[in-house]
Amino acid sequence: NRDLVVVRDLHKYFPITAGILQRHVADVKAVDGIDFEIRSGETLGLVGESGSGKTTAGRVILRLADATSGSVTFDGRELVGLTRAELRPLRKEMQIIFQDPYASLNPRMTVGSIVREPLEIHNIAKGKDADDRVQELLRLVGLQPQHANRYPHEFSGGQRQRIGVARALAVDPKFIVADEPVSALDVSIQAQVINLLQDLQQKLGLTYLFIAHDLSVVRHISNRVAVMYVGKIVELADRDQLYDNPLHPYTQALLSAIPIPDPDVERRRKRIILTGDIPSPVNPPSGCRFHTRCPVAFDRCTTEIPAFKEYETGHRAACHWVEQHGGKAPDITAGPA
Ligand code: SF4
Repeated sequence: NRDLVVVRDLHKYFPITAGILQRHVADVKAVDGIDFEIRSGETLGLVGESGSGKTTAGRVILRLADATSGSVTFDGRELVGLTRAELRPLRKEMQIIFQDPYASLNPRMTVGSIVREPLEIHNIAKGKDADDRVQELLRLVGLQPQHANRYPHEFSGGQRQRIGVARALAVDPKFIVADEPVSALDVSIQAQVINLLQDLQQKLGLTYLFIAHDLSVVRHISNRVAVMYVGKIVELADRDQLYDNPLHPYTQALLSAIPIPDPDVERRRKRIILTGDIPSPVNPPSGCRFHTRCPVAFDRCTTEIPAFKEYETGHRAACHWVEQHGGKAPDITAGPA
């Protein structure tokens, strides 16, 4: 499939100022030079701990925040630098689903008006046509059309997320950033919402950037997965390549944290316990940002930033160990404890 979204050397820094004069003292380097593509019709999972920059990356790609530098093209059009007026027609094509369905729905609006609002803002439908479209959208996300007259508080968390999805779909977008759409939901409801997103993707030909903080949530839905650490992408691969043959030590550590349902396998498994917290994006470690926590770090890691290189088709990683061993992964998860 062709690339729908192409991200090149994207940076987003938030300046920190101090004193009455608001002097610039430092930057939060939330996104610090990332490159990837999202193919039309696929789901790219973007995974990282909180503070990795994944949500900021999603927002910058949608131009909900301005990039500091770099490029984002959508359907061949550069988004960075477009004015508000130039962006307006593109807003319909790209939508976001938020993490917290409770916070993202106006409690004083009925569900019908919440879903209807984007239709009116973008001049898509009015009056009876808009009513019909609202009913159609509610049905599409598995809600009853009569729910249109109720308020968000009358719904469960899973149903509220369905309302958020209906609102995002109202403008008939091509691309959706789903920012931790199931993290606030009970585990039993998470699968339902993920299945809904997959059904909608097939029916409507949607492309997703699916943001999550652990690798277990994105496994089912993603075609490819990118792993972020302190503002950088450390590994990107097809889903099965990434889960079966992770190259980067950080990906291995994240994978080792996922519980395995089989208790025998679980008992024999060696977990990688990362010591220390995720470093601050204000003052990230020199060289490889993971060197302060990496079990196989060596001298070069502290001074030289590892290149994000392709080792097999479509499988990229940023690690000196992998490079010096001809694309092999360090063996830090295998074997019994
Ligand atoms: Fe570890 Fe060095 Fe690879 Fe970074 S570059 S992940 S510190 S081995």
